[in-house]
Amino acid sequence: MELFLYNTLSLQKEKFEPIKSGEAGIYTCGPTVYNYAHLGNLRTYLFQDFLVRTLAYKGYKVKRVMNITDVGHLSGDGDMGEDKMEKGSAREGRSAWDIAAYYTDAFKEDMDLLNMIAPDVYCRATDNIPEQIDLVKQLEAKGFTYVTSDGVYFDTAKFPDYNRLSHLPLEELREGARVEKNPEKKNPTDFSLWKFSPIGEKRQMEWESPWGLGFPGWHLECSAMSLKYLGEQRDIHCGGIDHINVHHTNEIAQSEAATGETFFRYWLHGAFLNIAGGKKMAKSENNYLTVANALVNKEINPLAFRYATLQVHYRKPMDYSENNLRQAEQGLNSLYRQIAALGSDIGEAGAGAKDEFVEAITDDLNMPVALSVLFKILKSEMPMPAKLGAALDFDRVLGLNLASAISRFEETAQKLELPEEVKCLLAARQKARQEKDWEKADALRVDITNLGYNLTDGPEGQQVELINHEE
Ligand SMILES: [Zn+2]
Repeated sequence: MELFLYNTLSLQKEKFEPIKSGEAGIYTCGPTVYNYAHLGNLRTYLFQDFLVRTLAYKGYKVKRVMNITDVGHLSGDGDMGEDKMEKGSAREGRSAWDIAAYYTDAFKEDMDLLNMIAPDVYCRATDNIPEQIDLVKQLEAKGFTYVTSDGVYFDTAKFPDYNRLSHLPLEELREGARVEKNPEKKNPTDFSLWKFSPIGEKRQMEWESPWGLGFPGWHLECSAMSLKYLGEQRDIHCGGIDHINVHHTNEIAQSEAATGETFFRYWLHGAFLNIAGGKKMAKSENNYLTVANALVNKEINPLAFRYATLQVHYRKPMDYSENNLRQAEQGLNSLYRQIAALGSDIGEAGAGAKDEFVEAITDDLNMPVALSVLFKILKSEMPMPAKLGAALDFDRVLGLNLASAISRFEETAQKLELPEEVKCLLAARQKARQEKDWEKADALRVDITNLGYNLTDGPEGQQVELINHEE
């Protein structure tokens, strides 16, 4: 079955055809490490995790590169604001380098808590300064740059189809960029490749360059590191939809101007997570929620957020509320109980069941449909080992840690402090039911009831409770 992905370049679903057969090179724009990632950022990384897992499930050898922005990202994403890293440093009274190290670790921890597969390469902007300077040199040699009093700029008028990714009229892109009011820019959409350190001000992060002491423009790192770490294997580039009009548009312009080659063939973008009232969650809006304050501190399983994210297609806006999260947690727990009730025999999922699942994930990562296929199977007449086999197989993509459900269930059983005798009878009865030996199952039910326990068979399997004799 082919894999189809929605490409922002063509505005349609396209069949994925990698540069090297059977392999997939992916670059995902990473965090700016001046603060914790918020759930909106993490929703984007989750969709990328679904992509990586889907490719791996389909048998592709995946190489994923993620940058860590630890310099040069200015507030407002443009060329005039304050460096976010220096801002974080001032806020916390620690060096920009300490801030970067601390929030990089915090980010990796969040990735872990949400059961995301770590990229094959994490690369820091500050570790790749010579590569970035080289790229500016190439652009300079080809006549795409000019120097102003505050830096080296890319002349967007010299790059044909500058609006190719945004699909917006150039005039509209220019209007959007005009807020910066930099009179030295030739075109409002021009962007900095290298910024000079302000005169009379010592920056914490600055480097020598052929043009003067300074630091790279934010977009430059992703071009330099895509080219360096993926080489020719530049298949898919991902980010949030807020990257389309400026960051990714500029990455394409500077990379293709420098190399004369197609930068990436497939551009995938995840939609926002909105909080009540339809506002996007963003650090600049001061309404951002983190794994710590929205999940861990509230004793909500972080995987509940992953589960909620699976229920909305990545290109559709998703609504955040604590209530939605708690509902997702209940849904996930119910799923765990259903899995636990299947016993521990893992069988083969039938091809038919698998086909439907693969059809969903290969249709532009349609995870809501993929989840519904799982639930359909759990409700079906399929033998329990086959159901369990299917669930664990699908979990390679879903990443809900379904295998943990079995031990989880055992823990709950212990909490009830069931006598060994009852536990044995329950296990025997579960086996009888698996074997469809209803007579034996009914006899065992009588035995259990005689020991003082009420037994019900729900969608989540056998449930027991003590009979209250005082009633
Ligand atoms: Zn980027």
